[in-house]
Amino acid sequence: MDTDRQLEELAQVLRQSRRVVALTGAGMSAESGIPTFRDALEGHWADDDPLALAAPEGFARDPERVTRWYDQRRAQCAACQPHEGHRALAAIERGVETDGGAFMLVTQNVDALHGRAGSRGVVELHGSLARWRCIGCGEEREERGPAFGAYPPRCEVCGGIRRPGVVWFGELLPTESLAIAQEASSECALFLSIGTSAVVEPAAGLLHLARRGGALTCEINPEPTPASPLVDWAIAAPAGQALPALAAKAFAGT
Ligand code: NAD
Ligand code: ZN
Repeated sequence: MDTDRQLEELAQVLRQSRRVVALTGAGMSAESGIPTFRDALEGHWADDDPLALAAPEGFARDPERVTRWYDQRRAQCAACQPHEGHRALAAIERGVETDGGAFMLVTQNVDALHGRAGSRGVVELHGSLARWRCIGCGEEREERGPAFGAYPPRCEVCGGIRRPGVVWFGELLPTESLAIAQEASSECALFLSIGTSAVVEPAAGLLHLARRGGALTCEINPEPTPASPLVDWAIAAPAGQALPALAAKAFAGT
């Protein structure tokens, strides 16, 4: 079936679904110029040991280097813009809700682009580069300003070291966010998996929960993944093309 026909079918189901969950991964932001994990392995991770940068051990060993690196990533993401696909997901959310349904956007991304594109109540499973937390007193704050002047940044309350509010290798996902995402996935009628390699647990398990609960499922990814043979529609197209087309077919004129 060609992509256009797949999107037609999916749009029809989307219009009729009262509970919809979308899960996004790094591929969602690729067209905004933010490298995916795989791109990054060939790019800016290539010279660095990811475990030295994205694990609690690396932070304990060299907090200055780790916080500087994350602050640079924060600046890179802040300089990138959401693309048409991000905006289309926000429009799909409004469309589903206007029709009296519930829509939940769950993301593995830490770049905050969904919120900037107008999505509300995004469940950020891996945290956000914009939030920094004191390891002394736990105080957490959004950082929207320029780069920190010194590394590691210090807490204004207790003087402790602040760390980025992202989930590192070997750390647990935020329990409440994960539980909310799992419950919504189990109960949804339609589950969309967008721009994720579908192998990183437990986010990848959300698709399985949705299928077990009887949901129809769709993947949007130009490359095949382990999820491709399992879903009802595997749409081999970039998110920045497929999502605007889907939003237009499902909700144009409403
Ligand atoms: P991944 O890098 O493992 O996989 C990305 C997937 O996106 C691939 O399957 C690729 O084929 C697909 N893709 C590439 N371009 C696309 C496009 N234009 N449209 C749709 N799909 C496209 O990413 P992952 O599965 O999200 O897992 C890696 C982890 O790395 C995540 O936990 C995430 O938190 C983290 N990460 C986040 C960001 C970010 O916040 N933007 C960036 C890199 C890594
Ligand atoms: Zn503190």
